[in-house]
Amino acid sequence: MKRSVDFQEEHYIFRDAFRKFIELEIQEHYGSWEEDGIVPRAIWKKFGENGFLIPWVPEKYGGAGADFLYSVIIIEELSRSGFSGVFVPLHNDVVAPYIESFGTEEQKMKWLPGCASGDTILAVAMTEPEAGSDLAAIRTTAVRDGDEWVLNGQKTFISNGILADTVVVAARTGDSDTPPHQGLSLFIVDRGAPGFSRGEPIKKIGLKAQDTAELFFDDCRIPAENIIGGEGMGFAYLMQKLQQERLVCAIASQSAAERCLEMTIEYVRERRLFNKPLSKFQNTQFKIAEMASELAVGRSFVDDLIRNHTAGESVVSETCMAKYWVCEAAKRIADECLQLFGGYGYCIEYPISRFYVDARIQTIYAGTSEVMKLIIARGMGL
Ligand SMILES: Cc1cc2nc3c(=O)[nH]c(=O)nc-3n(C[C@H](O)[C@H](O)[C@H](O)COP(=O)(O)OP(=O)(O)OC[C@H]3O[C@@H](n4cnc5c(N)ncnc54)[C@H](O)[C@@H]3O)c2cc1C
Repeated sequence: MKRSVDFQEEHYIFRDAFRKFIELEIQEHYGSWEEDGIVPRAIWKKFGENGFLIPWVPEKYGGAGADFLYSVIIIEELSRSGFSGVFVPLHNDVVAPYIESFGTEEQKMKWLPGCASGDTILAVAMTEPEAGSDLAAIRTTAVRDGDEWVLNGQKTFISNGILADTVVVAARTGDSDTPPHQGLSLFIVDRGAPGFSRGEPIKKIGLKAQDTAELFFDDCRIPAENIIGGEGMGFAYLMQKLQQERLVCAIASQSAAERCLEMTIEYVRERRLFNKPLSKFQNTQFKIAEMASELAVGRSFVDDLIRNHTAGESVVSETCMAKYWVCEAAKRIADECLQLFGGYGYCIEYPISRFYVDARIQTIYAGTSEVMKLIIARGMGL
């Protein structure tokens, strides 16, 4: 599909290298990782060795000082391949930015080089059993005790929850009089911190190779210097970074949906029914024309946002629109495509089945479609 993003020669070279990496290091193994419910740590090290982890981070912290388009390429290629359960984009473009943007120099020097090499895998823990869409309802507390913070509470649905060596945790620091939005702070909690534990991986209908887990903080003690930025600034930091998180989802959904349509076009050309290819039925042609149109609209919008976001513009409402519309479209498209595969589409052997289940989560995490609509409407002054 025609792109309006300014990819340069070096981006194309990077994309080729990353595609080869996927073919060589992921393709053959992904099915067994899905069965295991987790990707091996070794693959994270290989990502790091090849420069595919936090490439945008400055060199002094282990990155390559690359622009956002390198992240876009990694997200797109993982989604197109159907290997979305390798949750590197969360590490690269959602969690590491909290440390890089709001952390102290010491924090950046301490954590980012490991994030770039693959020795430190990241997760972010906002959601709680009673606080999903409503982040202001977060109950996990952090109380200062001398030169430590003491965390108590529970998080759920945390991606990379089992693998993570370092978790950025949102916790309440204000007292009961503090307005909910001013009482949140962000903390860095490392594997092995006393009082920090995790549950069993949560079994899911899709993203099967991705480890999602509950995290528990039971008088969990971390050094005072593990707070990110200012006390009470957590909500503001989260809001600042959600533009990129939502754009990441839209980019991933758009690429996955484009691949669904490509696979389906190949299939309907091959599949013969009633003495003619399935592609020659008007229903098939209409369905494909509808999906191609939706994808063209989505591509144009997503590329526009990639350009604006890379240029540092604030496109909060627009990324919510893309997160809502593109992810909903991708869900519909995966469903329509699977339908055209008939019974074969329902079989694990056919990758379309994986795209179908993996598309389902995109309208739920990083803010549900309904929450996106709330933010869009609020942005319109309603
Ligand atoms: C696979 C997976 C990975 C995840 N990874 C992470 C992670 O890494 N870190 C993390 O912190 N969280 C993560 N999450 C959590 C995810 O962000 C939440 O599930 C999501 O925000 C929704 O919260 P909830 O599940 O509590 O649903 P709820 O908030 O209970 O929502 C239930 C329904 O109510 C609707 N709703 C909510 N509020 C309104 C409203 N005001 N008006 C109308 N309708 C509304 C919702 O849209 C939804 O349809 C993950 C979840 C999953 C399933």
